[in-house]
Amino acid sequence: FAPWADPAARPYISFENITKRFGDFTAVNNLSLDIYEREFFALLGASGCGKSTLLRMLAGFEEPTSGRILLDGQDLRGIPPYRRPVNMMFQSYALFPHMSVEQNIAFGLKQDGMPKAQIAERVAEMLKLVKLEQFARRKPHQLSGGQRQRVALARSVAKRPKVLLLDEPLGALDKKLREETQFELMDLQQNLGLTFVVVTHDQEEAMTMADRIAILDKGEVMQVATPAEVYEAPASRFVASFVGTVNLLEGSVAAREGSNLRITGASGAQILVENAPDHVGSGEIAFAIRPEKIRVSPRRPAEGTPNVMEGEIFDLAYLGDMTVYHVRLADGQVVKASALNSARLTDDQLTWNDRAWISFAPDAGIVLTR
Ligand code: ATP
Repeated sequence: FAPWADPAARPYISFENITKRFGDFTAVNNLSLDIYEREFFALLGASGCGKSTLLRMLAGFEEPTSGRILLDGQDLRGIPPYRRPVNMMFQSYALFPHMSVEQNIAFGLKQDGMPKAQIAERVAEMLKLVKLEQFARRKPHQLSGGQRQRVALARSVAKRPKVLLLDEPLGALDKKLREETQFELMDLQQNLGLTFVVVTHDQEEAMTMADRIAILDKGEVMQVATPAEVYEAPASRFVASFVGTVNLLEGSVAAREGSNLRITGASGAQILVENAPDHVGSGEIAFAIRPEKIRVSPRRPAEGTPNVMEGEIFDLAYLGDMTVYHVRLADGQVVKASALNSARLTDDQLTWNDRAWISFAPDAGIVLTR
């Protein structure tokens, strides 16, 4: 499933040059973005980056100051929320406390004037979908947080919207439940064949669930890509740092040799990079490398090994599956390296204040110019 990679595919939702101002504050700045039918799309960004505002404009609760939003080719301007083929699930769930689970799910259908028998059928189908059949008669306060979340979900898909908008859908759940529910949401989206647009500030959540992620900052799109691309090939320092943990070694290009680059780090360290992008020839850059791509060893690697730096274990964290090392280099810079404990050799144990050598392959990191 990768319609975005097909030049002939038509986007289902298009934000075209959208700007949204509140007074003289610009919440969304000339933003363009395409989402495809049946895509699970995540808007990811820190608090205040404008992600909820984007979602609210798609739902029709806010109108853009300029630009237009197209859904299935139709310009949404002026179309009220209830006439748009989208539905929104809020973080607060907004369940009616005095109504039972089934009444909550039936509410929107009743308002639409759906015949009683059909409502009963649809509610039963929804209860089954979210595995709440035996809770149909309970009130929201008699449910756990995860169950309430599923009622809200059932209610928002009961009307069969074409697009479901989810604003921090799992925000109220604890970590373990959130992780389980992420997979349930993905199954549900697949089974229903809906387009999901989810707002989250949690990068792991976006990485887990989404087909593609738009990373936003100050009302602008920083990158739109699949989770793997965002992690492996971030477009900028900002994206590299926002998603996962990264070491950013500032430096400048010392030489270009074919597709290889020699970089001189700000501290004087020499870094060899293979397969550097063609557009990088000279100037200031950052070398970005993830902790798991760095090897840390108590012994000096063999003569001729590229990209070796000596340092000292300054901090470490044992996380069960892996251990994270903070290695302080001679110039004071701290580099993070992680090692899977399953792969660790017993004689490779390192502890605080140990002398250590880090090394990494010439193709283990990427060069960033932004
Ligand atoms: P959060 O995760 O905290 O909800 P967000 O990325 O969803 O953040 P938005 O809710 O889209 O952010 O808000 C973007 C910016 O626009 C914020 O600085 C917010 O204060 C401002 N903003 C949003 N709605 C309004 C409004 N109705 N009036 C004035 N400013 C607003």
